[in-house]
Amino acid sequence: MSTDWKIPLADLEIDAEERDAVLRVLESRWLTMGEVTAALEAAFAHYVGAPSAVAVSSGTAALHIAARLAGLGVGDEVLTPALTFVASVNAIVYTGARPVFVDVTSLDDWTIDPADARRKVTPATRAIVVVHYGGYLCDMEPIMSLAREYGLVVIEDAAHAPGARLDGRAAGTLGDAGCFSFFTNKNLTSAEGGMIVCARAEWTERARRLRSHGMTTVTWQRYAGHAFSYDVLDLGFNYRISDLHAAVGLAQLGKLERNNARRAVLARRYVERLQDLPRLTLPFGRPRGEPAHHIFPLLLAEDVDRDAFIQGMRARGIQTSVHYPPVHLFTWYRERGLGAPGSLPLTEAIGRRMVTLPLYPSMGEAAVDAVAEGVRVLLLR
Ligand SMILES: *Cc1c(COP(=O)(O)O)cnc(C)c1O
Repeated sequence: MSTDWKIPLADLEIDAEERDAVLRVLESRWLTMGEVTAALEAAFAHYVGAPSAVAVSSGTAALHIAARLAGLGVGDEVLTPALTFVASVNAIVYTGARPVFVDVTSLDDWTIDPADARRKVTPATRAIVVVHYGGYLCDMEPIMSLAREYGLVVIEDAAHAPGARLDGRAAGTLGDAGCFSFFTNKNLTSAEGGMIVCARAEWTERARRLRSHGMTTVTWQRYAGHAFSYDVLDLGFNYRISDLHAAVGLAQLGKLERNNARRAVLARRYVERLQDLPRLTLPFGRPRGEPAHHIFPLLLAEDVDRDAFIQGMRARGIQTSVHYPPVHLFTWYRERGLGAPGSLPLTEAIGRRMVTLPLYPSMGEAAVDAVAEGVRVLLLR
């Protein structure tokens, strides 16, 4: 890459295994969705403890399919956090449904607040999209009882959370549908790609159809001689992944446990180095279950100039980021009356004050220490 960061925000663990896997697919002369995709689906389903999984072209595609499976449409309301990547909410809007933004729980727990969600239920509410922010699990018990009480569908955006577990159950298998992203900077990547895991077998079957134009058979089944024609049962999409991407994903899946464990070690080291510093706090002090440590967020004190802090880190060759500018404050959402400043006090405070530090499995202990030292020096100024 052409950037000159001494310590980038994220980096990949790519080696000969991924290269050889891609070459094998090229040599097989079957590039689109086929047997390698089926192998990735089987391995991923086994990994999260689900009967099956459906691979798609992106995490956004997985979320859109989940929104369709939930039957969302015009007139429906969906509860969702605003402290997330915009795709979590766009997927709701694609269906014509209206997102209703819910605040996060506290300055320590940046996941959806079940109490605020309950306050915002109306007769039009149909679903809740929860986001396991940073790989930290949401408070699923009150979310699931709220959903049972009002008959709501629960969609988990588990883009940050492959491998996160709560009482032995994997993130993405706790609600009605779990959506994963295999975008390049995620814990598990296929360059571009995603996965959807459904609690009900009928939804899984329908997700497979929605992925490929609503057709009853796919190209490789016909090539393999298993089918000669097809019917169309749904208004589907082209949300297929390719076997080239699936080959990368399969190799990466084999490294996920080790990589997540390494992320946990590095995150602990950050906590040790940063926890006693003035003018910052670290969220998720007592996380639920085993987080996937997708990112390492911190919260600056009110009086810290965040832009100057980010510039100061940059001057030391350290890349930082903001996860996330809250969705309800984006122009597109505000102009349609879907969000307004002042409506989500905690989300907005975090959106103004948070910074994400570098975290990736190949990061060395010395790099963590250098980042922590940069933070210390800049905050003591
Ligand atoms: C990355 C991400 C997505 C979208 O995934 P893509 O694969 O990029 O479409 C959705 N939600 C969250 C929280 C994400 O971080």
